[in-house]
Amino acid sequence: GKGGWKSFDERDLLISYNALKVLEARYLLKDPNTLRYIETPQMMFRRVARHLASVEPQERRREYEEKFYEIMSSLKFVPNTPALMNSGTRLGILSACFVLPVRDSMTTKNGDGIYDTLRAMALVHQQGGGTGFDFSELRPKGDVVASTAGVASGPVSFMKIFDVSTDVVKQGGKRRGANMGVMHVWHADVEDFIKAKTGELKDVQLQNFNISVGVYDYFMNAVERGAEVPVITPRKTKIPGTDYDYYIVRARNYMDEEWVQEEILRELEERGSIYLDESRIITVDEALVIAEREGAVVKWVNARTLFNEVVKGAWDSGDPGLLFIDEINRRHPAWYLGKIQATNPCGEEPLLPWESCNLGSLNLEKFVVDGRIDWNGLAETIRYAVRFLDNVVDANRYPLRQIEEATKRTRKVGLGVMGLARMLIKLGIPYDSVDAVFLSYQLAKFIYYHALHTSVELAKEKGSFPAYDPVRYRDIWETARDLQELLSTAGVHGEPSEYVRKLTAEVNKLDFSTLKDMRLRYGLRNATVVSVAPTGTISIIAGTSSSIEPLFALAFIRNVAVGRFMEIDPLFLDYLRRYELDTPEVVKKIAESGEVGDNPFIPKTIRKLFRTAHEVPPMFHVLHQAAWQQWNDSGTSKTINLRSEETTETVERVYMTAWKLGIKGITVYRDKSKSQQVIYFGIKK
Ligand code: ADP
Repeated sequence: GKGGWKSFDERDLLISYNALKVLEARYLLKDPNTLRYIETPQMMFRRVARHLASVEPQERRREYEEKFYEIMSSLKFVPNTPALMNSGTRLGILSACFVLPVRDSMTTKNGDGIYDTLRAMALVHQQGGGTGFDFSELRPKGDVVASTAGVASGPVSFMKIFDVSTDVVKQGGKRRGANMGVMHVWHADVEDFIKAKTGELKDVQLQNFNISVGVYDYFMNAVERGAEVPVITPRKTKIPGTDYDYYIVRARNYMDEEWVQEEILRELEERGSIYLDESRIITVDEALVIAEREGAVVKWVNARTLFNEVVKGAWDSGDPGLLFIDEINRRHPAWYLGKIQATNPCGEEPLLPWESCNLGSLNLEKFVVDGRIDWNGLAETIRYAVRFLDNVVDANRYPLRQIEEATKRTRKVGLGVMGLARMLIKLGIPYDSVDAVFLSYQLAKFIYYHALHTSVELAKEKGSFPAYDPVRYRDIWETARDLQELLSTAGVHGEPSEYVRKLTAEVNKLDFSTLKDMRLRYGLRNATVVSVAPTGTISIIAGTSSSIEPLFALAFIRNVAVGRFMEIDPLFLDYLRRYELDTPEVVKKIAESGEVGDNPFIPKTIRKLFRTAHEVPPMFHVLHQAAWQQWNDSGTSKTINLRSEETTETVERVYMTAWKLGIKGITVYRDKSKSQQVIYFGIKK
């Protein structure tokens, strides 16, 4: 009735101008004939809520639709872009993250040859999903192709085909596609791969890819010792009883083989990565030794030299990042399904081949009430958010049978966060402080606990994910490192204050072992429940800072596909007002640099509280990422933003420390290192 429409209007007032611009450019539905808008932002949230409630039993649909609508329209929770765009429309993909296999053959009877994958990628991109690939099964450049007696062109040239195809399929003109390309460090072409986007090739090649080198503990240890490591041709011998003929092989190749299954599982439990030599299970180090004996080693390289190349590339252009393959697999709850080799484009979802995952993020800023954290409100929102995300698995229309099967087998969902920086400001805690890292740690723990709890309750109500194995499933909270360990590894000293301890006292009441008993009794609905995504667009829709990042600038121009926006942080304006500094001259001055770090006319409290991404020391970026990763059963996406004048030593230290802190993947971005960047500082006329 009338009341309903009135409240619609009020809710729309929560939507900022920038949010509205983004919504109208890409999200709000239009009549295809007249191109007129046929919905308001509230109608969009209503459409999404109704669609995701439609998989609930008839008699509860209305109730869940209201709850879903409530958490979205209050901007406390926003699902990932494809769910907002596609719910209830002709396009059916609601998930943002996909990993597709890349096999060393043109086509296969399983439909997973390299050109099958190219087609799968196009289908996913067309509907707004992002895709990740491990290219290391492809034989290196110059290797012989048996069927034609020709010469292989190598993984990097195949990546170029994927890149061009991404350019062509522009997601209905709405946004560019996004990819993650991975190559493991033992591959003979790894040096080419490392350089594929730097030097003369930066801003030119593989522009639709983020690239990451998959590294292992053996490699990182060799870097520290300055030891030599072999790089090999992955295709050498045929393994008896299988179709696979890679020398360095992966567990998943064997998962169907009864004769190795039990042994593999036992070994996988011991260590993250295993390799097979015919019927014997060996470590990656042993595999490399055998590879040498059999002539599969192309050459030996100094691990330090290789690492330095990675660091130089990352310093120069932001690529490559690193993926820590052993850490990813050690802490994969459903590790018994095979070995993870790649992630989605921004790294928050390490997935098995063909798996997809849907995301959604809590807006932390909304849970600061009168200088305190509304823990009850947060827990309640998490309950409906996880239910929402679990419903996405069923409401999704999958573009391919393999994706549907792999996704429904594990029902992975990823509840993340945005607005951390603004929450910290509202609580008066500078981002680069032990208190802030402590708060991140406690928040991550709280969110993980309640997300897992909800997934257990959902299992009780609707059943566990099909591949759930109560005994083998790995509880990642058992291996979370404590905060002091993280701080001392990063070389940061200090204790959290009494203030922040009181603020988070609620978190100390959580009882994980009782939750484990419940899990063993009732099961688990989702193989993973949380994930920290970049929230590139949904944070604009929610009008908050993105993900777990510090504020990027206090005032800046944002370049996105649909135009250029100027933004001045409203919280910052509030603070200026308090000190009567909100005059046009002051604001203009600040906007020129985007920051106030060394401005002597600005009170010290403001300067400390409003440190922007480039003012925050790199180690605090890394610490926040590590804190969130401890209580995260998938990945934590983060960009370690560096000042333009930072050196390669900083990048080296960041990459090395990330490995030691148990981070799953790391990326840096040094200001001005690319010609096109999404955000520029300051206001330019
Ligand atoms: P959003 O805010 O739009 O929901 P995020 O910035 O949080 O998205 O990114 C989450 C994931 O969505 C990415 O890791 C990637 O898998 C996918 N994604 C993001 N941008 C794109 C894009 N332009 N094309 C395809 N997939 C994308």
